[in-house]
Amino acid sequence: FEEARLSTRALLDYSENFFHPTLRLGVTGLSRAGKTVFITALVHGLARGGRFPIFESMATGRISAARLEPQPDDAIPRFDYEDHLRTLIDDRNWPHSTVDISELRLVIDYQRRNGADRSLTIDIVDYPGEWLLDLPLLNKSYEQWAAESLSLSRQDPRVRLAGEWHAHLATLDPTGRENEQATLTAARLFTKYLRECRDEQFAMSLLPPGRFLMPGNLAGSPALTFAPLDVPLNGEPPEGSLWAMMRRRFEAYKDVVVRPFFRDHFSRLDRQIVLVDALTAFNAGPEALHDLESALAGILDIFRIGRSSLWSALFRPKIDRILFAATKADHLHHSSHDRLENILRRIVERASTRAEFAGAEVDVVAMSAVRATREAQVQRGHERLPSIVGTPIAGETSGPEVFDGRTEVATFPGDLPVELNDLFKAGTFRGLAAGRPEDADYRFLRFRPPRIDCRNPEEIILPHIRLDRALQFLIGDKLL
Ligand code: GDP
Repeated sequence: FEEARLSTRALLDYSENFFHPTLRLGVTGLSRAGKTVFITALVHGLARGGRFPIFESMATGRISAARLEPQPDDAIPRFDYEDHLRTLIDDRNWPHSTVDISELRLVIDYQRRNGADRSLTIDIVDYPGEWLLDLPLLNKSYEQWAAESLSLSRQDPRVRLAGEWHAHLATLDPTGRENEQATLTAARLFTKYLRECRDEQFAMSLLPPGRFLMPGNLAGSPALTFAPLDVPLNGEPPEGSLWAMMRRRFEAYKDVVVRPFFRDHFSRLDRQIVLVDALTAFNAGPEALHDLESALAGILDIFRIGRSSLWSALFRPKIDRILFAATKADHLHHSSHDRLENILRRIVERASTRAEFAGAEVDVVAMSAVRATREAQVQRGHERLPSIVGTPIAGETSGPEVFDGRTEVATFPGDLPVELNDLFKAGTFRGLAAGRPEDADYRFLRFRPPRIDCRNPEEIILPHIRLDRALQFLIGDKLL
């Protein structure tokens, strides 16, 4: 029955595509990578004629209009573009981040190179990257997953955050009677540990199950209430035991959460952009960078088409282009943008050899969807230093200074190293990240969105870095 339902949908997708060429563009990335800001800027730029010199169809004037249309999938929330844009421009604040899947339909009217008028419908699907990293769970037993999660949590730096959860774990008897309260506490402490691993300071990436961090509409449901137990890999739980209960819920998680996501959403995507907050990982140090690389290998593995035993024919992806984008490049001086791009390229290359990746065209870009800084030369003693100028968010600190959200500051974002290996050497990069040279705290300052002159809303243009390059790769070939 399910197969029949899916082939009906595939047929509907196909016939819709025949009459109205439609591209489903997936936008993903771990939480705070920049998905919401990216989609808002992309839609605004297309609809309002942003400055996109590298996006050929727009630069040559072949796009006559781009407009929003009602989103076609009744069961998916609409991406709240208007509200996000208002927050960004009128309030000069960053919009609320992605916490669930959402979708938006954009129709582009354009002239083909041969002169014929056409339209292309783009369904933008925004979903948490955490969900993607759940796919490997399908091939794992509860016992395998528990053993892996425990062994990871005993390594540095995670072990420093796992204390409370480990202490509770030590009080549990897996073969004892099932116990809802103990399970709730274990799930809560395990989730708290995962959250802390994601914190800026540690910036770990590889933390399944993804819904523990991004529950979407499933928060609090039993399928999300389980945790690892210290149990033998090949053991069998006694009936009615805590272990049996955890195992049952782990299986439920796969059935009601993981499989439906891949079957109903992921398998329908045509193109994918994966946003990566590489700068935060660099700042957190080599462990975070290793973890990011593993997460990207995991993601590439998921895109590996055909070969993987994980894919039943029902939810094999058809994605033929994947763009990995390092976001927030406006935290660096432009002289480092190519370096950021090269470093991400190296990470993706390394990850893709591990994943034996084949199947889709992959590219890499360093960009900023909404550029919050400008560049300036600042005189310091006899030196003129290339710096970036922006308004730090109220409450951001730099050493003893606390910013009020109104004052502009110039910072010197150190140079990125040319070689990826230099980033992996402990301590080499921490000292180079943003902040003023005299600061002891090298965390990146978070800036407010740029001030935009909005006297005429029709003429508002959002500044960006290389957003047009991303667009050209993702949809340029569909507009020829
Ligand atoms: P999501 O969780 O992937 O949806 O991430 P968001 O799009 O909400 O972005 C998370 C945060 O990253 C925002 O609140 C901003 O602080 C920051 N951010 C995102 N994009 C940019 C950018 O282009 N430039 C700068 N400076 N900050 C950005």
